[in-house]
Amino acid sequence: NENLEIVRSALKLCPNFPKKGITFIDIFGIFANAKAHRALIDIILNRLSNRNKTIDVVVGLEARGFVFGPQIALSLQVPFVPVRKRGKLPGKVAQIDYELEYGTDTMEIQLNTLQPNQRVLLVDDLLATGGTLGAAQKLCANLGCEVVETLVIIELIGFNGRAKLNNVEHFTTLFQF
Ligand code: 5GP
Repeated sequence: NENLEIVRSALKLCPNFPKKGITFIDIFGIFANAKAHRALIDIILNRLSNRNKTIDVVVGLEARGFVFGPQIALSLQVPFVPVRKRGKLPGKVAQIDYELEYGTDTMEIQLNTLQPNQRVLLVDDLLATGGTLGAAQKLCANLGCEVVETLVIIELIGFNGRAKLNNVEHFTTLFQF
């Protein structure tokens, strides 16, 4: 598929970032290139138009889920709601702790942004171990919502991140080995 190749070639691989031995995948190369940006959004919207379950709200994870989540929400004509790291969102929030490579962190969502029984599309840039997306799914479920689809730009093969996603359709744009 031509669009997939356009997106793939806009990714930047950054050896030894953020530390030695890790190759970070920089997705901002996609958004720095209007053709690649268009190609990515077209791939995602095409996928979403081919599914029959309705989506009531798009929930994006800090920080890179904020970059392309709103375009999807706008196209679907539904709200966009952010999930952020602890202490960034004003007002009352619901929280969930999740595992990082070293230690734990907490993510939060503002109360009253999601209504019970809403059908959620959860978006982030990358799926590795699945700890992040899996925790966000639980956070939405704790508020009485159903995550009907999870979506990422890149899935790292070999971490089995999908095992952390509970009974949900998952869409990956590009697999990375
Ligand atoms: P997981 O919780 O699935 O192990 O890791 C996914 C989270 O780590 C995502 O929120 C993602 O933004 C971040 N992440 C880990 N490695 C990379 C990477 O190489 N590139 C980017 N863009 N994000 C990464």
